[in-house]
Amino acid sequence: MDSGRYPNLHVSQHPLVAHKLALLRDRGTEPKKFRELVRELSWLLGYEAMADLTTQPITVETPLEPMAGAELEPKVGLIPVLRAGLGMVDAMLELMPSAEVWHIGLYRDERSLKPVEYYNKLPDAATVQVCLILDPMLATGGSSAATVDILKHWGAARIKQVSLIAAPEGVATLSAAHPDVDIHVAAVDRALNERGYIVPGLGDAGDRQFGTFAGPSSEPGHDPADETAEVVRRLQRNLAGEP
Ligand code: URA
Repeated sequence: MDSGRYPNLHVSQHPLVAHKLALLRDRGTEPKKFRELVRELSWLLGYEAMADLTTQPITVETPLEPMAGAELEPKVGLIPVLRAGLGMVDAMLELMPSAEVWHIGLYRDERSLKPVEYYNKLPDAATVQVCLILDPMLATGGSSAATVDILKHWGAARIKQVSLIAAPEGVATLSAAHPDVDIHVAAVDRALNERGYIVPGLGDAGDRQFGTFAGPSSEPGHDPADETAEVVRRLQRNLAGEP
C-alpha cells in the first residue's frame, strides 16, 4: 500500500520486529511460543509508539549527588480489544507499570454490520490523557474506529493504535474516521480476504494465542460468510476510491 498517503501510519523498521513477526506468522508456531512472540512484539512496538510521550523534569538523588532526571508526564491507559488484544497487555504494563487497563467490548451487529458496545466500565470522566488501543490485527478497522469514538467522547486527549499486522482496508478506515490517531504496526499486509482475514496474515490471532481452534468464535472470519464478504467488498471499494 502507499504508506505515504497516511502520515499517521508508522511501520516498524526494526530487524528484531521483522524476525519475530516471521516466527509469529509461521503456521507451525504453537500457542505457547505464539503468546511469547505476541508479548515480545508488543514490547518492541509499544517502545516505538511511546517515543513521543512528554516528560517533566524531576530531581533524582543518586548515592553521590542530586541530578536532573525525567518523569513521564501523561497518564496512560491501555485498551485491549477483546479478546486477542489481551495478550498485548502484560508487555505494555512491563514498559509502564502505572498504566491503567480499561476494557471495552464490541461486537458487530448482524443486520447493521456496525460495532455495538456490550461492555464498557469507563468512569464518567477520563482518568488518563494518552490511550493505547491494543489489537494484534487491524483488519476492517471498524472496531478500532468505534473504540476511538468512545475514548474521544470519554475525554482522552491522545489516542494511538498498536497492532502487529494491519490490512490496508483497516488503515484506510481508521485513518479516514480519525486522522489524528497514530497507528503503529509491525507490517501492513496485502489485503483482507472475503472472510475478513488479513492475508497473508497469521490466521486468527485469538485462536492462535488461546488454542481455541475447534469452537465457535466471535472473531472476524466466523461471521456468516456473505455478510463478512459484503463488508470487505465495501471497504475495498472505499480504499480504491470507488463509490
Ligand atoms: N482477526 C484475526 O485474528 N485475524 C485476521 O486475519 C483478521 C482479524
